[in-house]
Amino acid sequence: MHIISRAGWGARPPEGRDTTTWSRRTHFMGHYSAASATQTPRQIQDYHMRVRGWSDVGYNFLINSITGDIYEGRGWLTIGAHCAGHNTEAIGVCIIGSDKAGRQDVSDAARRAFKWLYEEANDRKGKRLTLLGHRDRGATACPGDEIYSWLKAGLPIVGQPPNPTPKPPPGKPAPGTPIAFPLPAGWYFGPASGPDYSVSGKYERYFRGRTDRAWLKEWATQLARRGWSIGKGKRWLGRYGNDGIYGPEYAALAVAFQGDQGLREDGLIGVNTWNAAFRNPLT
Ligand SMILES: [Zn+2]
Repeated sequence: MHIISRAGWGARPPEGRDTTTWSRRTHFMGHYSAASATQTPRQIQDYHMRVRGWSDVGYNFLINSITGDIYEGRGWLTIGAHCAGHNTEAIGVCIIGSDKAGRQDVSDAARRAFKWLYEEANDRKGKRLTLLGHRDRGATACPGDEIYSWLKAGLPIVGQPPNPTPKPPPGKPAPGTPIAFPLPAGWYFGPASGPDYSVSGKYERYFRGRTDRAWLKEWATQLARRGWSIGKGKRWLGRYGNDGIYGPEYAALAVAFQGDQGLREDGLIGVNTWNAAFRNPLT
């Protein structure tokens, strides 16, 4: 694993910074951003600097809750602005996104990233930091119930992928009958927190006579026909199954399939990702 540097995500320079030392670092604190999981670190930084008037993005690190990418915020030893009164002793890490309706919002990749960062901090200090959620030190719902209970349980990683089932031999034509992309041009299957053209299956919107949920299931069913291990307890969509409601599990499946097909790995199911499932030969 690696940390995407500030230059790597196009950070604005800080307007000031105060540093501390590893001897004064004693805690490692989890946050969420309480906004869309598709927010970029730059958008969060802009909000913190322009709206909140802070010198920089408030967190020491940020993690994409879908892909598990880790972004450098203020870094290890610059004092953050993530928990009033506790920024010197606590390293603040934000898992970008929010906790909605009890639905898990954090992928296994993001959990592994958070845990890796925590172990990295412990190594650098040479001693274990105390793990906290923001709500342990402030009147806030942050980091949401799901992340909080996970922190309190000591960061167990569930959903370790079982051995994948053997795939059909490569080179064969795509199985089944090709189905045309059901959404308008430029739209895609993506998070419910996204714009109107990000179709999640959550609201059961109708496209070409069927619900978005039915269409999203159709896409994943096609991947199963292509030999992907899909469904509850399986390699992909293992936690919730092919329920047609876009979340981190569909995003992870889409990223893997896009990587397999040489497509842009954004986890969103647009026309290219759709067509590749129905038209490309097996890989
Ligand atoms: Zn917080």
